[in-house]
Amino acid sequence: MSIISKDISKAVTLLTAEEVVAIPTETVYGLAGNIYSEKAIKAIFETKKRPFFNPLIVHIPSIDSLNTIVEDIPEKAQLLAEAFWPGPVTLVLKKKNTIPDIITAGKDTVAVRIPNHPTTLELLNRLDFPLAAPSANPFSSISPTTAQHVETYFKDQIKMVLDGGACTSGIESTIIGFENDEPIIYRLGSTALEDIERIVGNIEIKNRKEITPDAPGMLERHYAPKTKTVLTGNILKILPVYKGKRIGLITFQSEIKDNSVEVQLALSKTGNLTESASNLYDVLHQLDKMQLDVIIAERLPDHGLGKSINDRLQRATANI
Ligand code: AMP
Ligand code: MG
Repeated sequence: MSIISKDISKAVTLLTAEEVVAIPTETVYGLAGNIYSEKAIKAIFETKKRPFFNPLIVHIPSIDSLNTIVEDIPEKAQLLAEAFWPGPVTLVLKKKNTIPDIITAGKDTVAVRIPNHPTTLELLNRLDFPLAAPSANPFSSISPTTAQHVETYFKDQIKMVLDGGACTSGIESTIIGFENDEPIIYRLGSTALEDIERIVGNIEIKNRKEITPDAPGMLERHYAPKTKTVLTGNILKILPVYKGKRIGLITFQSEIKDNSVEVQLALSKTGNLTESASNLYDVLHQLDKMQLDVIIAERLPDHGLGKSINDRLQRATANI
């Protein structure tokens, strides 16, 4: 029997009983549990095989509940919350003592956001606790953007995937931390850098493992297909390198006429970056199922969401 269901009341019952439930968000599906339940949070880490040093994002229903999670809110954090919530911006702020260490990997900061998905907003409003929800995929594999992706990963391990349709943003939230009350980008994501700079001015990006070993979502290899995957700025030049191999191609918008390509998928036929972001993981899931020898992905224009998509493709193609 399928574990996929649209029944929000059932999700409320399971989460209240300290169970783990997969939930939809506008970014990717999350594996959710009560932040105050050690049992639920441990089950999230075990199900994902996520190392305990990798902290979780706390999901809240409204800006009002922020002061139950964090100690103080710098002015620019308040501006960002007002500009983008509900939406795919995660703020890393000084945590309240009541936030369990297992959520924050022992750090004195906590990551928090309001997701912009009607089903999950209703769910959060009906619960009397926030939800911790990392992406609903085994650690370092491709993130899930449909209920079916989650079911394929975890049907024997969890009782329910709350179905909210395909994720509209399609890549993870943009994570912003604060140093001396000034915002810093820890992870590029579904809110474009330019949109954030419009609210808080020029912002530093520190999203490399070597620079911020304590922002573990930035591990070098992440979001990765099982199939060997390469990223290129010039498809026609790289194709001969894989002659005789079964090649799957991911282009931004163009169709490549070349007999050596077995299958090709464009992220957006009209060259739209928002559409590309929402299609990215599904395209990777589709090609990864096809027993190809190699997936070749084309680098996108390096602005707006193109920058965030290139960041994900870079990690998907990184060697361990
Ligand atoms: P995921 O939920 O899988 O998208 O991953 C959440 C990511 O948020 C983690 O991998 C970290 O990079 C980041 N994160 C969560 N909490 C913190 C924190 N307190 N400080 C820095 N980064 C954090
Ligand atoms: Mg993840």
